[in-house]
Amino acid sequence: MTKYIFVTGGVTSSLGKGIISASLAKLLQARGYRVTIQKFDPYINIDPGTLNPYEHGECYVTEDGAETDLDLGHYERFLNTPTSQANNITTGRIYQNVINKERQGDYLGKTVQVVPHITDEIKRNMRILGDTGNYDIVITELGGTVGDIESLPFIEAVRQFKWEEGSTNAIVIHLTLVPYLAAAGELKTKPTQHSVKALLEYGIQPDILVCRTEHHISADIRKKIALFCNVNVNAVIESIDASSIYSVPLLMMKEQLDKTVLAKLKLPSKNEPDMESWKDFLGRLKNPTAEVKIGLVGKYVELPDAYKSITEAFIHAGAKNECKVRVEYIPSESIYPDNVKEKLGHLQGVLVAPGFGSRGIEGKIEAIKFVRESEIPFFGICLGMQCAVIEYGRNVLGLKNANTTEIDENSEHPVINMMEEQKNITLKGGTMRLGAYPCDVKKGTKAYAAYGKQHITERHRHRYEFNNKYLQQYEDAGMIASGFNPDSNLVEIVELKNHPFFVGGQFHPELKSTVANPHPLFVKFVAAAMEHAKKKTI
Ligand code: GLN
Repeated sequence: MTKYIFVTGGVTSSLGKGIISASLAKLLQARGYRVTIQKFDPYINIDPGTLNPYEHGECYVTEDGAETDLDLGHYERFLNTPTSQANNITTGRIYQNVINKERQGDYLGKTVQVVPHITDEIKRNMRILGDTGNYDIVITELGGTVGDIESLPFIEAVRQFKWEEGSTNAIVIHLTLVPYLAAAGELKTKPTQHSVKALLEYGIQPDILVCRTEHHISADIRKKIALFCNVNVNAVIESIDASSIYSVPLLMMKEQLDKTVLAKLKLPSKNEPDMESWKDFLGRLKNPTAEVKIGLVGKYVELPDAYKSITEAFIHAGAKNECKVRVEYIPSESIYPDNVKEKLGHLQGVLVAPGFGSRGIEGKIEAIKFVRESEIPFFGICLGMQCAVIEYGRNVLGLKNANTTEIDENSEHPVINMMEEQKNITLKGGTMRLGAYPCDVKKGTKAYAAYGKQHITERHRHRYEFNNKYLQQYEDAGMIASGFNPDSNLVEIVELKNHPFFVGGQFHPELKSTVANPHPLFVKFVAAAMEHAKKKTI
């Protein structure tokens, strides 16, 4: 029988519910439990696929092609198990399902209401993963902060769920903030008390409190929080600011969050979590023997959350290489022919980021020309790969005004073109080429050296593609297609023969990089940057 853990947040947003959920899941997994995590987001978009990254950070894509919240990236990176559409549900999707059912006549004769119809649909979605029989424990993170108008139906659904399942089968962990007031020289518990009161007003008594804090919480303060919030003293868990999100599972282990959870759920907690490989990763992460500086050229760089998975993939690949990767975020709009050397010349590698639309694209192309000519390792992802093709077309093949039809519909040389199957699509939501597709990697290429195998799958999110009409011309001039989709023949990887490391992928390798399995292309890219650093010092 599946057990359920709900994670709510109070006081303020950005307390790190996603990381706490992922850390707890990691500890339970390391004890041998089969765990998954899902996220419920209270906004009305059906999914975050249509949101600007400035609004909501990166859009994370799952194997089955769901466009989801970036917290799912954390879940996968921590647990090394794939998530799916069922792991991310929004208010919009709940309402859409209910309205579709209403139109089909499922509620004939009845008034359709928030309670019970919306809450029933929420509860049905809370049970979907548990009902597969694949999990012992399902952790459900509720987006937003308790008290928000839009999260009310979710909170009510949790209350009902707890009542239906019983207190040892469904528990609530509430994440709060214990702020430090410098003027008073004290940690303050009142915001925590108030946010627990808000939950109580909705009929939910939290079982465990995770208190985010900048300073250690003393035994006295724990006791005070426990007394006023109606929980056991050992159910007051300190979550102190950490230098790396990857330290949080160990901090939670020290606080015995996993043990307390198992006791509440009446599950055995005999063997301690086996965190050896995690500790090994942390050891390598925290004791690098080399350092490289890699530029991330993109258009949303003011908000690093827009490139969350790329940043994390560098951390995994850095640890694998025992190398500290310093990522320098460079706005592509700021790059011009006369300043490109000054902007990029000091770097040991440049990654050109994914993206949509024309803003900053010429800067990306300029950056690629510079790193190609100066033999600085280059890695292009999705739009970054497409820009590499455009750059090579314009500057090496002499294809005047080569472009992607995303930017110039009437380009004389549409080297990147909209995919055939995309041409008749008018709806914007969930209609790109999304999710995992197979790719065949050519032997003897840099891509093959990285993957070490021929058949791979990678995740996609795009509408445009390399125009195969130009393939022969490119290959003759030294830019080869080293990865193909075996079914559609779409070019998935390009690389340069005569360059230390110049690789572009039409897919998003960053989405598959985890602590346990750093992505091979990132690992090789970092290794190439380390080689470049050595060259410089010789
Ligand atoms: N805008 C490009 C396309 O749709 C690239 C998308 C991306 O970088 N994810 O093909």
